[in-house]
Amino acid sequence: MHTFSEAEALELDRADPLPSRRDEFWIPPHPGRGRAQAAYLAGNSLGLQPRTVAGDLQAELEDWSRLGVGGHMKAHRPWVSFHEMLREPTARLVGALPRETIAMNSLTVNLHLLMASFYRPTPQRHAIVIEDQAFPSDSYAVRSQAQWHGYDPDQAVIRLSPRPGEDCLRTEDVVGFFQKHGDRVALALLGAVNYYNGEYLDIPQITHAARAAGAVAAWDLAHAVGNVELKLHDWGVDWAAWCTYKYLNSGPGAVAGAFIHDRHLGDQGLDRLSGWFSTDPGTRFQMRPTLDFVPNADAWQVSNPPILAMAPVLSSLRLFDEVGMPALRAKSERLTAYLSAALGHFLDPADASIITPADPASRGSQLSVRLHRTPAEAAADRMRSIDGVISDDRKPDVIRLAAAPLYVTFHDCWRAAMAIAAVAADPNAAA
Ligand SMILES: *Cc1c(COP(=O)(O)O)cnc(C)c1O
Repeated sequence: MHTFSEAEALELDRADPLPSRRDEFWIPPHPGRGRAQAAYLAGNSLGLQPRTVAGDLQAELEDWSRLGVGGHMKAHRPWVSFHEMLREPTARLVGALPRETIAMNSLTVNLHLLMASFYRPTPQRHAIVIEDQAFPSDSYAVRSQAQWHGYDPDQAVIRLSPRPGEDCLRTEDVVGFFQKHGDRVALALLGAVNYYNGEYLDIPQITHAARAAGAVAAWDLAHAVGNVELKLHDWGVDWAAWCTYKYLNSGPGAVAGAFIHDRHLGDQGLDRLSGWFSTDPGTRFQMRPTLDFVPNADAWQVSNPPILAMAPVLSSLRLFDEVGMPALRAKSERLTAYLSAALGHFLDPADASIITPADPASRGSQLSVRLHRTPAEAAADRMRSIDGVISDDRKPDVIRLAAAPLYVTFHDCWRAAMAIAAVAADPNAAA
């Protein structure tokens, strides 16, 4: 059906029903040829900068210079309640009630704060389940939690592996695990879209299985938020956390997010680690020694909002609200299907294979390619400097390509497929 010509890729861009928002981002130059633009397929690692970010940040800097401490109450967007402006766009993005979400901290910190409430191990039930290919920060976080509670992390942390010879998990195996061993599990904390192989797990089915077994069902959405359509409330997820600098394009170290299901929000008996932003804003400045409980996700907020790390999130979420996740996901599926087909067309199966699931329902925007002959790091270096294709390598042999639909084009996908095929076929040229 496709010809995989450059002209065809350009025509696919022209004809697509959702026009690219590329012009609203700063696209890095081709690292080897400064005047052309790079094909940026690393948005799963760090999203590009929306052009509105500088103005939004500048406005906060001006309020600070003009008002000093007065900015807490009198800035054009008062700092004391800045996080409240992120609540509704965030809730739309993850499919939550506004009171179920809060923008705060960074991802791993949020995992710890939520585990402080929702990892309540007992001698009979103290296991934490993660994927064997979990991002290392999550692995360190759950191991340290087990240890913090006095359990041996090697024994308490259960890592789910794909079947021998397979690269991804099967939903039936994960569900089967909870049916068989769920009575030992205190907490399931899986990555909704795996950072390494790009697999998008079946959140509703796995959540149901974990909860039916008596475990808490939590999700790390680092690679899912802004990538796939989420319905956390309806799916019954207990809690979730995510960062905003990958598909959400909010900048390095930008403020992260958290979701706590409504069913937990009224529970005053839950243990929490608290601070002055956990209390009722109506009485916060009465400076009392005990806090006033609030029945929303702010009960987990500890500190005052970091405005300079939060303004870019607000900027970025406006774009997601304008386009909407259904249209964005549909475009992501078109781009990813084309990228997958182009890789199939250009790559020799002896040189490389795609390890991400082929079923569009089991993946987001990312395709992970395993190189059989060329080391991934050298391959990514050459793709960057010669072809201007910015990707991300995971040692020893995987290249990750993400067709982030706000700014990646069909033409970028075509460039990436051509570049990776050339380098996969020629290990010496890469060295
Ligand atoms: C990117 C990522 C992180 C990063 O954690 P920070 O706390 O934001 O530094 C953690 N977990 C997963 C699964 C990720 O993909």
